[in-house]
Amino acid sequence: MTTATFLLAVMLALGLIACAAAFRSPRAPGKPAFILAVVSALWWTAMVLLRFGTPDLPSKVLYSELAWFGIVGAPMFWSAGILSYAGYRRLATPAATLSIALYAALAGIAALTNDWHHALYTGVTNVVRPTFSHGWLFHILLTVTYIFMIWACITAISRLQLSQSLHRRQLSGLVAAMLMPWLANFAFVFFEFRLFNDDPTPFAFSLTSLAMLMMQEHGKLFVAPPIARDVIFNVLPDPVIVVDGDARVLEVNPAAGKLPGLGEGAVGTILPPGHPLRTWLDRELQVIDPLLTIAETETTYEVSVQRLEKWGRDGSVMVVLRDVTAREAAQQQLAAASRDLAVRLNENLALQNKLSEEASRDHLTGLYNRRHASKIIPEFIESNAPGRAIAFALIDLDHFKQVNDQFGHDIGDRVLAGFASILRDNMPNGGCAFRFGGEEFLVAMPGVEETEALIYAARWRARLANDAPTLAPGFRLTFSAGIAVFPHHGQSLSACTKAADIALYDAKVMGRNCDVAWREKSSQFPIAS
Ligand code: GH3
Ligand code: MG
Ligand code: MG
Repeated sequence: MTTATFLLAVMLALGLIACAAAFRSPRAPGKPAFILAVVSALWWTAMVLLRFGTPDLPSKVLYSELAWFGIVGAPMFWSAGILSYAGYRRLATPAATLSIALYAALAGIAALTNDWHHALYTGVTNVVRPTFSHGWLFHILLTVTYIFMIWACITAISRLQLSQSLHRRQLSGLVAAMLMPWLANFAFVFFEFRLFNDDPTPFAFSLTSLAMLMMQEHGKLFVAPPIARDVIFNVLPDPVIVVDGDARVLEVNPAAGKLPGLGEGAVGTILPPGHPLRTWLDRELQVIDPLLTIAETETTYEVSVQRLEKWGRDGSVMVVLRDVTAREAAQQQLAAASRDLAVRLNENLALQNKLSEEASRDHLTGLYNRRHASKIIPEFIESNAPGRAIAFALIDLDHFKQVNDQFGHDIGDRVLAGFASILRDNMPNGGCAFRFGGEEFLVAMPGVEETEALIYAARWRARLANDAPTLAPGFRLTFSAGIAVFPHHGQSLSACTKAADIALYDAKVMGRNCDVAWREKSSQFPIAS
């Protein structure tokens, strides 16, 4: 056995192992083509082996002719495999595979029938190894095959740039595996380079089989092929539209095909000026407002725009729409709900203010009540400038029981309300009157000293006398008042009211219808019954 035949036999074995491994691998784009490429190479190698094994020239010529099934099949199938792997799924269809098989078969048949037409080769010149002078068909087959291989190479290389590391390695491995026999063939055809005094191409195929085997073992060829990149566009639920600078639709995925104006036949046409997407793109709203609403379908999309300069399409953009209708509706509902809530909150606050105002007021007179006095007067005192007086007058209507008895309760009420009005209308700046009890009133007068307080008391008395004929005709309406001044007579509200109460008591004892300011002695004043 010669070295050449031994090598060829090893290659056959390698090729078979590579095919067997490929058969066990999962389905992958281009896998059948790669297997058929290796099978074609095996056929070619087997024919060379048989040719080496026979001394008979006609047999050698026959094996050379039979090899043509593989000579055309191997590079064509390998190129188809690379193209399918790189994304040309149309070349992975059974029809494409069958076409290539037919093309290879026709080349083989042309070789076998060459005697009749001499299209493939015009003559045999060497007796040891048949050397053919090429005919026109040879040149056509060579050109077609080379063009196909160049196409596959360019596609794979351009795909490399967009691929991730593993797929890059796979694609470069596939191209390299094709380049080795190609270079050998190129050297043989154009420079008459020979190995074992023969065409080196079948020997180089051993490297192709080896590369395929290695890529299957270590490169996850067929196990992890690039699939999603092409599938994703079709299965993505979000509409994807590619438009060029003139708003011409270049591509739409099935999800985008369902949008108005982007259905069947939209590809290649220019989006009409009124189309929502066109309007959106024209206004270049993408920076300001990423939302696009299609009124016809009542759908709101969030738009993301990808410029395609990197992909060699200046001015073109890929638009991805994400349906955010539900999110937007929820947001609007939320906004409406919070607006509603704010309104209710304000209403509640107003109501609360009203309630607390009502709770602090006396209904009959409209004055603040005692409870409110005990709340706000300490605040008055707290915020009072140091040394500034606050006069307190505790007033009690004289013989009021008689008013009720004589005129009835309603008139009594009218008198109380009338007196409250007198107090309110004759109040120093910042002063405030409170209904302290039944017919008892407290007046707080910030910035007022005892003397001025007595003047005010006199004024109220005069007003009451004046109003008496209308309030309770025929009744002499009077009051008694006890006056205490903060901080001279007491340091707190309770101390001051206590002092004023004692002074009031003194006033009553003194015969009513008078005002008494608290004095130290007041507390010791004998209380007459
Ligand atoms: P004095 O001069 O000693 O104060 O005599 P007085 O009659 O005013 O005192 P007294 O405490 O005996 O009576 C107070 C009366 O005030 C008794 C009560 O019926 C009456 N009164 C208290 N609150 C109201 C009210 O809201 N409306 C009416 N109409 N009368 C009231
Ligand atoms: Mg009283
Ligand atoms: Mg009274």
